[in-house]
Amino acid sequence: MSSRWCGHLEQAGWSAPGEANDIKGAFGSRWPRPADAGQCSRRMRRWALFTVPNFGEWSQGAVALLGDAAHAMLPFAAQGAGMAIEDAAVLAKALGDHAGDNVAGIPAALKRYGKSRRARVQQVQRAPRRQQGRIYHLAGPLALARDLAIKTMGPQRVLARQDWIYDWRV
Ligand SMILES: Cc1cc2nc3c(=O)[nH]c(=O)nc-3n(C[C@H](O)[C@H](O)[C@H](O)COP(=O)(O)OP(=O)(O)OC[C@H]3O[C@@H](n4cnc5c(N)ncnc54)[C@H](O)[C@@H]3O)c2cc1C
Repeated sequence: MSSRWCGHLEQAGWSAPGEANDIKGAFGSRWPRPADAGQCSRRMRRWALFTVPNFGEWSQGAVALLGDAAHAMLPFAAQGAGMAIEDAAVLAKALGDHAGDNVAGIPAALKRYGKSRRARVQQVQRAPRRQQGRIYHLAGPLALARDLAIKTMGPQRVLARQDWIYDWRV
């Protein structure tokens, strides 16, 4: 896995000790009135967002990966769990269609599952990195322009931009 967002998480592991100034440093210029994190919690931890950018094989023999284990992605498109659910649907179909009661057919069915998911997951995985992540983290006048554009578009048009994700069927 690689750390994509908090590149300054220096040590190995999922999280590291943090302090209130970390939050001020990261968000102070973006939020008009940054929350006083010190009042919320005495014990703070910093954690990174991890991705699995280069897929290896998703299955070996009768064992397969799905969800984050196969393709962890940045959360800006809010699709990590969605892709895990899609994986499960495709995996179940592959097993039903290509293995059935034949245990010997399971490895080939799992290979089909991995092969059929790859392009879709890669497309969804790229979306937050290229678009939403950049847009969500704009600051200053660009952030104001972004907010105005979203307001002008209205909820229906904003939602329609995600149709290519939500219109997927197994
Ligand atoms: C800040 C943030 C916001 C997000 N927002 C969204 C969102 O809005 N929509 C969306 O679709 N996705 C979102 N995601 C992504 C989503 O949370 C993940 O993609 C999803 O939880 C992956 O599910 P999973 O089952 O693959 O893995 P996990 O949810 O990580 O489940 C793996 C489980 O395995 C357990 N485990 C690990 N090792 C072992 C072991 N050795 N033995 C037994 N159990 C073990 C773990 O404890 C865990 O419970 C977000 C992620 C983040 C970080």
